[in-house]
Amino acid sequence: MASVSNSIKTRELLRRLQDNYVLCKYCLLRQISINTEINYASQITTPLVNKGECNICSGLMQETDSIMLRISETLSNDYNFNTFLIGATLPAKLLEKEDRIRARLKIRGRENIKSQLTRNLRKMFSEMTKKQIDFLHPDLTIKLQFQRDTGLDIDIKMRPLIMLGRYIKNNRGMPQRSGGEHNGGNELSLQRQSFPSVNLAPRLGSVICTSEDSSIQSIISREILRLTKGEGLKFSWIGSEDENSLVSGSGRPFFVQIRNPKTICLDERRLNFPRYGLSVNIEQFFGKLPEQPIQFIAKTRIVIRASRQMGEEEFLRIKSLANSRVVFRNQKKKLKSSEKRIYSLDIVKKSKEIFELDVVADGGLAIKQFVEGRECISPNISTTANLKCECLLFDILDVCIKGY
Ligand SMILES: [Zn+2]
Repeated sequence: MASVSNSIKTRELLRRLQDNYVLCKYCLLRQISINTEINYASQITTPLVNKGECNICSGLMQETDSIMLRISETLSNDYNFNTFLIGATLPAKLLEKEDRIRARLKIRGRENIKSQLTRNLRKMFSEMTKKQIDFLHPDLTIKLQFQRDTGLDIDIKMRPLIMLGRYIKNNRGMPQRSGGEHNGGNELSLQRQSFPSVNLAPRLGSVICTSEDSSIQSIISREILRLTKGEGLKFSWIGSEDENSLVSGSGRPFFVQIRNPKTICLDERRLNFPRYGLSVNIEQFFGKLPEQPIQFIAKTRIVIRASRQMGEEEFLRIKSLANSRVVFRNQKKKLKSSEKRIYSLDIVKKSKEIFELDVVADGGLAIKQFVEGRECISPNISTTANLKCECLLFDILDVCIKGY
């Protein structure tokens, strides 16, 4: 009985709608059926309405083919994505027209014009591109803004592309970060003239000198922006080294977040910059940046010059620092201190006063301060050996990230 009475009600509603308004088939069926795709759609013969005459949409609901064409023209095959979402903003007047009709005829619980239009467009776009709709984290977001008089604005955004990469650096004299960006506590600088002379010469490699911004950050940035066609990017460094340091082993890791790229991955995972002695490996892609600071352990080779000849006793004292915890007290903020663990120390004597120290320690240990004993760092090499030690150079032999 319920379905019979519903059917009578629907027929009555249909009659009142058709007597009072001119509606296209989309706008008419949307008022009488919860699911506009089935049920009445096949049973009701809707009168043909001339384009633009519909009292609600003024013809917009029949424009989906041309809207789809506009979207594909805007995308122009430039984008590489798997999932998408289409959203739309309609002129308020248009929504008000539907609301007024529904209030007058007491129509409730029906889909409105905006959700029917976006649902239809999403379905069409999915069929056209063979890509999936994703409501939460779409790769591609298409925002359609229907203006009352000026037509349609299309805004296309890709979700940020986040990558974990590592670089190997074979040339000295190349800063890690672009000028002006100093956001680490262990930014170290080393004067060129303090390079040790004879013994270490083969290790020093060639020093490049150019006037362009040849920081590792800008070299990698330029290439990644070229490959992804992004609008901009942001680096999150995992540790830092001196511009005269080399980086070997598995390389220095970093996160990079690319704003509005045209792709969600890179085909080329290996980026080589032979001119700069630099190579980059892109290891992983992420949906978002890690929320916690990345914990890591670094193996560093430090070249140290002592103020006088080193004896067995001094070497033993330095070796005793293995498994100790180094505390760094910030002089400006007395209360703030950080602690880094030393896991191992190996010493190789190179000449009377020069020795190499291979240190495995928690990432972020300020190497120069640790050697020279500056800035409230305790214990440190100089104090432990009871002689003045100078950090001439340090190289990163490996970096291990915890949890990745
Ligand atoms: Zn309509």
